[in-house]
Amino acid sequence: MPFGKKSTSSPSNTFNLPRRLRRLADLAYNLWWTWGRDADQVFELIDRETWEVAYHNPVSFLRLVDHDHLLAASHDSHYLDLYDRVIQVFDDYMTGGDNTWYARHHQEWFNQPIAYFCAEFGIHEALPIYAGGLGILSGDYLKEASDLGMPLVAVGILYKEGYFIQGISKEGGQEAHYADLSFSDLPMYPVLDDQGEKLTIEIKFPGRDVYACLWRVHVGRVLLYLLDCDVANNKQSDRDLTARLYVSDLELRISQEIILGIGGVRALYALGYKPAVWHLNEGHSAFLTLERVRQLTADGSTFEEARNQTIGSTVFTTHTPVPAGHDEFPLRLIDKYFNAYWPQLNLERKTFLDLAYNKQPWGEMFNMTILAVHMSGQLNGVSELHGHVARQMWSHLWPNKPVDEVPIVHITNGIHTCTWLARHLQHLYDRYLDPEWMERLDDPKIWENIERIPDNELWEVRCHLKHKLVAYLWERASQQRLPGKVHPGQVISSGIRLDPDTLTLGFARRFATYKRANLILRDPERLLRLIKNPSKPVQVIFAGKAHPADEPGKHLIQEVYRQVKRADSEGRLVFLEDYDMNLARYLIQGVDVWLNTPRRPNEASGTSGQKAAINGVLNFSVLDGWWREGFNGGNGWAIGEDRDYEDTEIQDEKDAESLYQTLEEEIIPLYYQRSADDLPREWLGWVKQSIITLAPRFSMRRMVKEYISEMYQPVLPG
Ligand SMILES: *Cc1c(COP(=O)(O)O)cnc(C)c1O
Repeated sequence: MPFGKKSTSSPSNTFNLPRRLRRLADLAYNLWWTWGRDADQVFELIDRETWEVAYHNPVSFLRLVDHDHLLAASHDSHYLDLYDRVIQVFDDYMTGGDNTWYARHHQEWFNQPIAYFCAEFGIHEALPIYAGGLGILSGDYLKEASDLGMPLVAVGILYKEGYFIQGISKEGGQEAHYADLSFSDLPMYPVLDDQGEKLTIEIKFPGRDVYACLWRVHVGRVLLYLLDCDVANNKQSDRDLTARLYVSDLELRISQEIILGIGGVRALYALGYKPAVWHLNEGHSAFLTLERVRQLTADGSTFEEARNQTIGSTVFTTHTPVPAGHDEFPLRLIDKYFNAYWPQLNLERKTFLDLAYNKQPWGEMFNMTILAVHMSGQLNGVSELHGHVARQMWSHLWPNKPVDEVPIVHITNGIHTCTWLARHLQHLYDRYLDPEWMERLDDPKIWENIERIPDNELWEVRCHLKHKLVAYLWERASQQRLPGKVHPGQVISSGIRLDPDTLTLGFARRFATYKRANLILRDPERLLRLIKNPSKPVQVIFAGKAHPADEPGKHLIQEVYRQVKRADSEGRLVFLEDYDMNLARYLIQGVDVWLNTPRRPNEASGTSGQKAAINGVLNFSVLDGWWREGFNGGNGWAIGEDRDYEDTEIQDEKDAESLYQTLEEEIIPLYYQRSADDLPREWLGWVKQSIITLAPRFSMRRMVKEYISEMYQPVLPG
């Protein structure tokens, strides 16, 4: 597999490490440590406090940690056992590329790289270049590609300011804070050319050239290249092109997408890659198809030949039925940025615009999804229902086909199991599942042995995880919100009164209105009665960011916060600031019930409920996206019915009624029903059913294998 140009000095000399621990430097620069067994412990156990201060970023950690702590660890036999074991597993993993699943099953494609493009990658909280589900999915995808041994190379953007940090005012207003990331403290390398200079990509913009340099992130065996315009050759406004993720200014946005798509293709070619498959994960990167056509026509092909060749090697995954999720640009911007480009494709303006033309009531637009559809040979949505909706949504692009024959298939999303599974549960699964369970995550047979876990052991881990969550939130509430600095109500709203023995519901995701965070608050008095029931109380934890330009989304946060702050909720309704992967891990591992209330069919898949499920948390969700496929009547609960509504007001009303009724009549009684030895045995029976039925099917392993066989195989040679 090509590793691009040689570019780096060994990282070990950037830290002052005791010789015995010098391999920590290699581990710090490979995000394998985020999912490798016990690998995070190798850093954390040196000095917990600094590990938190560094926000789990091992590069900053190794720079910050007191040398005495390193020395102490280098003499601690207990620590060294762990260190040696983790380094051994890491080395075996990194050198084991010839004996992976992919090598065994697809030797013939071993030299056919797959290029994977996405606007965001959520690999770990220490690399905050993601906003939500799309980014987490692409991060999980890279990890699984690495585990399976796929020759995948990924391309994204390095956002200097990351996504924003969220604060909530006393009145519930969302405040967006931005801070520059310190690139030299991030786990990545600058890509250098043969002369040892930063490798730079050049992109023609109106009246000037824009330059981007590249950073290389190691995700196990997979490399992720990030484009970065903050280079000295650019004028200041161009240096800021890659400052922020999902800007609303359309001109900035088209510039970013040109950098990702066109710059990304040039980057891969400059690095020596010749991908056999180009996978567009969402439409933001669709300009890449034009750049490939341009290069092929420059080499002598006609437009039609170049286009067909591009289509024959491009895969496009669409991720949402929500219109705002499909970028489109007014033609004046296309004229400005592409009028020198379409002649290079041997096209006239009109034929160029036809590649992505969309007539909207407010004007003529160039639509990135339509471009991706027209330029890709393989198309898919991300759940069965979403596939159906996507075929309807785009059927006008196939005027001669009935809707059912529109060639958009579906592959339901999954999650990277080892990333999201709590360490204590991993150890429990080690004891009761087949020793090979980690190698066979997507095999339903493996998971049947969950039945063998004794109830008391499973319950003990579940209680531990909830205590850990609550303890973490107490700590956060008291640290972030120093008494006297904020309104006492804000401290209570951030979880200081949570009780680790109370039935706990979690709701955390982006605050987009279709996700209806307020559904459970529709009848606040009814909810308060449940919360305040002295013998069977309930508490609800909310978290999530709204896009800074999404006024209805921010309004929704405000509405939720108003209810959270009510004195009579007694601190059992909570809103946590700044939802990210770190907080997500605590929540999906620590709550009892994971709530999801999208207005069907808008949740294309959803993945947080899958993370919850593998940790023994029960799902309680609308039958939309993945849950419509996962729910079987005995592994969690449905909100509402398996049907669509014309009228959203009626839909909201019915769904809310269903939610309250199921909570009152089924979930709460089941949770508090205890056996003579004080175990919720029936609840645990549901938990086991949930893990058994959901863990294999909604694993990233199953998902990536399906992408290989259904989306890539038709495109790969042979
Ligand atoms: C998993 C995850 C998401 C996606 O959750 P959905 O249920 O798909 O909305 C968003 N943000 C973070 C931080 C996550 O971990």
